[in-house]
Amino acid sequence: MSLNLTVDIDDSSGFCFGVIEAINKAEKELEKGVELYCLGDIVHNDEEISRLNKKGIKFIDKETLKRLKNKTVLFRAHGEPPESYKIAQNNNVQIVDASCPIIKNLQKRIKKSYYDNNEAIIIYGKKNHPEVVALNGQINNNAIIIEDIDDIDLKKIPAKATLYSQTTQPLDGFYKLVEFFKNNGINIKVEDSICRRVSNRKTQLQNFSKKYNKIIFVAGEKSSNGKILFNFCKKVKPETFFVSSFEKIDISWFDKNDSVGITGATSTPKWLMEGIKNYLEEQ
Ligand code: SF4
Repeated sequence: MSLNLTVDIDDSSGFCFGVIEAINKAEKELEKGVELYCLGDIVHNDEEISRLNKKGIKFIDKETLKRLKNKTVLFRAHGEPPESYKIAQNNNVQIVDASCPIIKNLQKRIKKSYYDNNEAIIIYGKKNHPEVVALNGQINNNAIIIEDIDDIDLKKIPAKATLYSQTTQPLDGFYKLVEFFKNNGINIKVEDSICRRVSNRKTQLQNFSKKYNKIIFVAGEKSSNGKILFNFCKKVKPETFFVSSFEKIDISWFDKNDSVGITGATSTPKWLMEGIKNYLEEQ
């Protein structure tokens, strides 16, 4: 018996332009026949990594970069600290720089604040996130990184500082932090560097989720942005199901004639959502 599901994909979901550009650059190199390495995952999505892996990209970590000589390495959208550029130069490694222009610009702003304006820098972000490592690397790792308001040790915060953010952090968390500093007498200069491609997703998701009986949220298990957006989506629509691929779908989630919305994180490839749509429509 057919389930007769009506299935739509969220138009505003899929990769952000920074990631699309990085993947385009990688594919262009592969088309030219270049033996291409990529430092770290190009996107936090195993399905996309395996697709690119099959096309020939080899994903490597920093330790492998240190040993690599005379090759071509792509630096992904998150950006890299100066140390990675130095290693590449010393090893005669050619760089395909796919750092997102928004992040590149942010790196410059942080450098200017610190070196030209003598500002103490605080970054709201995840300590080990590659984007934060690259941002902090611009100023010789002298930034104070704050992941969560509860972790703040006020004794370590200077009386005057400039606050930046990892581009994918939540806006509300950033402004709560601003309030916290102000309430505690810190003279804080606010540099809101959150990428609106990510922060606008919540409003878009809310509007999209309301329109369907069930939501399939597609993201990689490793995507932190995916987890945040999935939990948000589940609040709006309790019948939201997280999957990383169509094999994870349980058909018993659906009733006959359900309307199903498919959406995802900024690291979810459109082709993966299209595959899930086709699969559901066949049920
Ligand atoms: S989320 Fe925004 S800043 Fe980050 S890579 Fe994508 S476009 Fe660039």
